Amino acid sequence: MTIDKNTLHMEMTAWRRDLHAHPEFGFEEKRTSAFVATKLREFGLDEVIEGVGGTGVVGTLRRGSGNRSIALRADMDALKITEQGDRTYRSQNSGVMHACGHDGHTAMLLGAAKTLAEEDGFDGTVRFIFQPAEEWGKGALAMLDNGLMQRFPFEEIYGLHNMPGLAVGCFETRTGPLMSAEDNFEIVLKGVGGHAARPHWGNEVLVAACALVTNLQTIVSRRLSPADISVVSVTELITDGTRNALPGLARVLGDARSFRPDVSASIEKQMRIIAEGTALAHNVSAEVTYTREFVPLMNDAALVNEAFAAARSVLKPKDVAVAGEPMTGSEDFARFLDHVPGCFVFLGNGKESAPLHNPNYDFNDEGLLHGANFHTAIVRRRLPKA
Ligand SMILES: [Zn+2]
Ligand SMILES: [Zn+2]
Repeated sequence: MTIDKNTLHMEMTAWRRDLHAHPEFGFEEKRTSAFVATKLREFGLDEVIEGVGGTGVVGTLRRGSGNRSIALRADMDALKITEQGDRTYRSQNSGVMHACGHDGHTAMLLGAAKTLAEEDGFDGTVRFIFQPAEEWGKGALAMLDNGLMQRFPFEEIYGLHNMPGLAVGCFETRTGPLMSAEDNFEIVLKGVGGHAARPHWGNEVLVAACALVTNLQTIVSRRLSPADISVVSVTELITDGTRNALPGLARVLGDARSFRPDVSASIEKQMRIIAEGTALAHNVSAEVTYTREFVPLMNDAALVNEAFAAARSVLKPKDVAVAGEPMTGSEDFARFLDHVPGCFVFLGNGKESAPLHNPNYDFNDEGLLHGANFHTAIVRRRLPKA
């Protein structure tokens, strides 16, 4: 049976807006995962398992006798942002908002599940993975730690993200590094606070903290190869000083991006040297905490070609492109690529779209069918009927 695309588009729009009106923060996607599981059961999937890695859902669809298996992944979580604007389906969960379009990603993957369940057209096993807590960078690991690969084995995986600034119906990806690792750091400087009028009686930390912020800029500019894309951003400088009192404690926090573990290791090493040296020069102490939140997202070359071919079969060929540069944003999808090869792609959310994570952002429903069609096409291409 061939599914009517106009009807499917209307259905996906209704699902997307329902999810948009009921956004849930990472690992709290109870209503969302129940919504997903109910739909997958309605579509007649062979198996629908909830509670994988907290609030994750995995649906399995088997057709024919083939023993190959591929996975398609969507993310379900929202952000702690208060939505602006007066759309009819605006967030009913105050302070939480689908500002990254995960409502759209979920609706598109549901659309693909419905299409493949009704139309068939492939031979093998498809895993539909709906992951929690992408924004935290913790949801994929939670599913993997809960035995995802052993309980629902698959050989390759595909995922997509909407992209503001890219026209609807346009598709981009690239071979190799697509998105960066994200590391976080906190450097605590300790000295002796005191009267603002008599700095020489104490050992305040604010001048040291300012020097540290400046010195950290030399990691990328003077210690790493210009060929290695990386970013070190100080995002917060917090002290316990007040109007007429110098601080004895300062916290310098920030975020670092890179595309290789050895570059990430170099950033941490240099940061520790600079923090220690700067603290010594100012006669204060420094303690560095450095954590790794997201790993780099590396697309498999052969599967990028497969994704291109699938995209060209459902989109205008001129709209399917190789993205020029790796992006210094991060994506939890990368965790799955530690286990199997795969490809992550971007689909246009429109040139007029507000940026991701902006209170005025909204997923563009015009793109829903493109995403569902891409998912469906890659399954049929990778699991062809004999
Ligand atoms: Zn996001
Ligand atoms: Zn996102």
